[in-house]
Amino acid sequence: MALTHNLGFPRIGARRELKLALEAYWRGDINEERLQTTAAELRKQHWILQREAGIDLIPVGDFALYDQMLNMTALLGAGPARFNADSGEVDLDLYFAMARGTPGQPAMEMTKWFDTNYHYIVPEFDARTEFRIASSQLFREVAEAKALGISPKVVLIGPLTYLYLGKETEPGFNRLDLLTRLLPVYREILARLASLGVEWVQIDEPLLALDLDNDWLSRLDHAYAALDATGTKRPKLLLATYFEAVDNHAARLKKLPVDGLHIDLCRAPHQLDIFLDNYPAGKVLSLGVIDGRNVWRADLAQAFSILSRAQAIVGERLWIAPSCSLLHCPVDLELETRLDGEIKNWLAFSAQKLKEVSTLGRGLDQGENAIRESLDAAAEARQERRDSPRIHSPVMQERLQSLTHNDSGRASPFPVRQLLQRRRFQLPLLPTTTIGSFPQTPEIRQARAAFRKGELGNLQYLEAMRNEIRFAIKKQEEIGLDVLVHGEPERNDMVEYFGEQLWGYAFTENGWVQSYGSRCVKPPILYGDIYRPEPMTVDWIQYAQSQTEKPVKGMLTGPITMLMWSFVRDDQARSLTALQLALAIRDEVADLERAGIGIIQIDEPAFREGLPLKKADWNGYFQWAVEAFRVASSGVKDDTQIHTHMCYSEFNDILPAIADMGADVITIETSRSRMELLDGFGHFKYPNEIGPGVYDIHSPRIPDTAEMLELLEKACLVINPKQLWVNPDCGLKTRGWTETVTALERMVEAARLLRARLDISQAETC
Ligand code: GLN
Ligand code: ZN
Repeated sequence: MALTHNLGFPRIGARRELKLALEAYWRGDINEERLQTTAAELRKQHWILQREAGIDLIPVGDFALYDQMLNMTALLGAGPARFNADSGEVDLDLYFAMARGTPGQPAMEMTKWFDTNYHYIVPEFDARTEFRIASSQLFREVAEAKALGISPKVVLIGPLTYLYLGKETEPGFNRLDLLTRLLPVYREILARLASLGVEWVQIDEPLLALDLDNDWLSRLDHAYAALDATGTKRPKLLLATYFEAVDNHAARLKKLPVDGLHIDLCRAPHQLDIFLDNYPAGKVLSLGVIDGRNVWRADLAQAFSILSRAQAIVGERLWIAPSCSLLHCPVDLELETRLDGEIKNWLAFSAQKLKEVSTLGRGLDQGENAIRESLDAAAEARQERRDSPRIHSPVMQERLQSLTHNDSGRASPFPVRQLLQRRRFQLPLLPTTTIGSFPQTPEIRQARAAFRKGELGNLQYLEAMRNEIRFAIKKQEEIGLDVLVHGEPERNDMVEYFGEQLWGYAFTENGWVQSYGSRCVKPPILYGDIYRPEPMTVDWIQYAQSQTEKPVKGMLTGPITMLMWSFVRDDQARSLTALQLALAIRDEVADLERAGIGIIQIDEPAFREGLPLKKADWNGYFQWAVEAFRVASSGVKDDTQIHTHMCYSEFNDILPAIADMGADVITIETSRSRMELLDGFGHFKYPNEIGPGVYDIHSPRIPDTAEMLELLEKACLVINPKQLWVNPDCGLKTRGWTETVTALERMVEAARLLRARLDISQAETC
């Protein structure tokens, strides 16, 4: 019998029940018991849903109130200061304090989980880090599942991945040295699970999908040998890998003393053969054939034929699963009542994906005919999708064919453009600007919501937004900024706003995916060729410009960010979809230029996120991603100034690609890292102009003028002041007006002070 299983289920709840309960708990509206009851109820619902979908082995331990890595940290008791002295356990408030900070203690760092949009809490290690079982939560959940008659497969993050994803808080210390201390605790956990009657543990080692240096790789055998040590009774281990190929480690993995391997055949279908070749007798091979990272209905026939081929070789030991945890997928398509029926038929969310898995299992057990109907229905849906006039349009084909090399480059090189732009805008040295959004006040949100519901008429809405724009322009003039923005009051979300106006996008009501903690996102679904039927921003920007003599910067979201923050069609290369998005933005840029807007910013906060997990694939990505940005931004005259913005600071390894994008000005995040990133800019001379953020908009703290001045001076050491812009780290939409005004006034003052100083020193050298 081919066993079906699931690697993990989204925990936030189909209607974000967990989010609501968490936030109520944090506000003090509900007590711990209520929160725990909601959590237990969700776990139960999800287990039952999975069982009813026909899944044989159901994950337990994939649930987390905040984050699965933080759960591991609590389970392993990593870090001496982190326990409650009385209970010896990590209690709930301590757990949340680690994630969210307290007035007295900053939150632990959070970072992206591989190439997903999920963020985990980074474990912290130093030489004194000790481990011991410090939370019974996992064991309680096992008991909970058993009580419901669920046969649990417990999910743990593997010891190597756990250490790898953490960071050292002590210079010179190597966290890998903790492995020997860590393994006995894993052994203890396994033994305890065995005594609870757990038969299988899925031990996730996604780090294997990364480029690993030998220090880490060489510890793999040792670590798993240690977990296997004689004398300990342990459950069977399924070592799970996902998000990329691990075929380069196939020989090593097959030899590991574990009872099975899981590989991702959606991201890396080619790795099957290498694993099938001489696959060790007695070991389970779990194949991830249903895509856990996207929302499309599977090609069941193809998956079935892959599985059949594997079954012929590994027989009973074949397991079937989604490619990775379904954490990255919305919960249930059935909840979508407003989605167009045709498009809905092309989709599968978590609940539907599990049914696909179990259908495949049934087919393997009972023969293809037993699932004939499902295979046919899936094939038909795919055929319809392929043939649908909503997907491929001749207009787009023509457009793509008419693209020439010239379309991805500006007419003149940067120095020529710079001269023309300087003449045109007459900006002072160290021009000041902001990243785009101004505070999204409750009034703005209410107006937008009322407009959506039809409670506010078109003209009333227009007037409300124009009032906001006028207000923002006036404030910026008072503050004395040089390049103004309209403030983005009309935008709920920088991707959704554009997606809603482009053809080829669909939106869900409940397609939530956890981003971190209680934060969820609802990525739009990019299903077909992209077409921009009419200008998307021109009216707003033009209105803003009509209110001031100063230049107003137009504000757009770039093609790569549109792509990364959506569920993207899987019937063509992502590079092609990016190019289609680029063409739509190019048209918008042209319309803005025609309307007299001289400065246009194309935000690409997700540019770095798109980097493939393996470095060998980076160049391929850069080629199409940079090209997409160039196509979006190059259709303008030399004296139109293109800005871009990216919200992070790890640039050192991607600077040449960033420079290739060719924006006249780039604004970036730097203040949290105190301009450390500028080291990179020191080594690699960034050719164009650059605005390193001088204050952190993520924190309510407002730095004083001297602090910003100091950061600017630091920047001047590596960047020619003539190339330097002055701006905050990111958009201001989450801040209030009072703090925003104070912060920007100080920023403008810092720029003035430095300008004066630079003028003097230049005068002296003359
Ligand atoms: N222009 C956007 C804003 O200011 C940029 C947001 C972002 O970089 N994530 O909000
Ligand atoms: Zn940003």
